[in-house]
Amino acid sequence: MYILTALKDNEVMFTITRNMTRDQLLFLRKTSKFTCPQCETPLRLKIGKVVIPHFAHIILTNCLTSFSERESPTHLIGKQHLAEFFTRVGCKVSVEAYIPKISQRPDLLVRNKRKTFAIEFQCSVIPTVDIEKRTAGYLRVKIPSIWLLRTPPNIQLTTKGISLIKLTKFMHAFIKNLPTSGATIITYDPSTAKFIYFSQLVHISGSSFLAKIRALSIEQQTFPFAQVKMISKEERVDYWKLFMNKRARFLHNRIRSSSFGVRDRFLTNCYENKVRPENLPLCIGFPIQDSQVILAHLAEWQLELICTLREHHMDVHDITDKWLESYILTKCKVTDKVTALTVLTRYCKVLQMLNYNVYTPISEIFISESILLAHFEQEIVAKRCEN
Ligand SMILES: [Zn+2]
Repeated sequence: MYILTALKDNEVMFTITRNMTRDQLLFLRKTSKFTCPQCETPLRLKIGKVVIPHFAHIILTNCLTSFSERESPTHLIGKQHLAEFFTRVGCKVSVEAYIPKISQRPDLLVRNKRKTFAIEFQCSVIPTVDIEKRTAGYLRVKIPSIWLLRTPPNIQLTTKGISLIKLTKFMHAFIKNLPTSGATIITYDPSTAKFIYFSQLVHISGSSFLAKIRALSIEQQTFPFAQVKMISKEERVDYWKLFMNKRARFLHNRIRSSSFGVRDRFLTNCYENKVRPENLPLCIGFPIQDSQVILAHLAEWQLELICTLREHHMDVHDITDKWLESYILTKCKVTDKVTALTVLTRYCKVLQMLNYNVYTPISEIFISESILLAHFEQEIVAKRCEN
């Protein structure tokens, strides 16, 4: 367990910063006593070669549970960088400050003129419920929390324009809808001292997303965090082209990759509608914001919905929230029912705007790409700022 802040000589709080030299720290180790601000047991000041200087408990105690994660060297370095950053932008910073009321210890507690924030730099994967619990804990004491993820190590920053990336289930929990950059995850990479933004996220299937990736050095960062500019018209067209390409490839390979045989719902739906997967109209397999909460490919759940509507003799204009709620319970595998309802509602709106007629055989439906591109820009890219 690595810690940066200790009680020095039972008098003052002491945080190790990057500008302290080895010699200064060696001297301090000889002349001062350090204890853990929370459990009050002695701490050892460790000045090694592998990990940056830090404190460690001499006796194992249970005060470690107040931290959001068992710390790694990367986490420790990131915490130090961020402490310097928040100080530079004019905040009062407490590293590893303990909040007794909720028994939590955020990585940083920062205060600007108006507000106090808990900053968590998350390097390890922890259960999503733990993040929700800790966020709720901070809210109980009226402190909003900002979770900053460590940049995944496999990200290629050389790619220009729009990239195809993989985001793990754990990362999905950190997607925020921001005014200009849409669905966005902000990460920090201590090895390069850069904030890496994954913005305008468009879900494809499973862990695959399209994203605009941008880097911002910690020296250029501001607080509140800088936002990525609204994407350009050209970039929107690039998104669409890449998306359509991925959709076509998925549908083309779908028959071969089926492992369910005759019980495959999607292929059965295609067969009953006398349409090959690759010939489905473009509005089936259409990108919808937050669709990662539904555990099926866009084309699969959208075709299923349309087939069910026809079975129930329902028009796209007759769909109610109640009907969709029960539809989710019986027909969809989802990770989050509330978000799934907004996703399905949004898709139904697209169908309504297209005047989709569920009684027309699917094989005879034609919707031009230019009309869908306009919807794509509206729904996915341009105005994703409700949260
Ligand atoms: Zn302790």
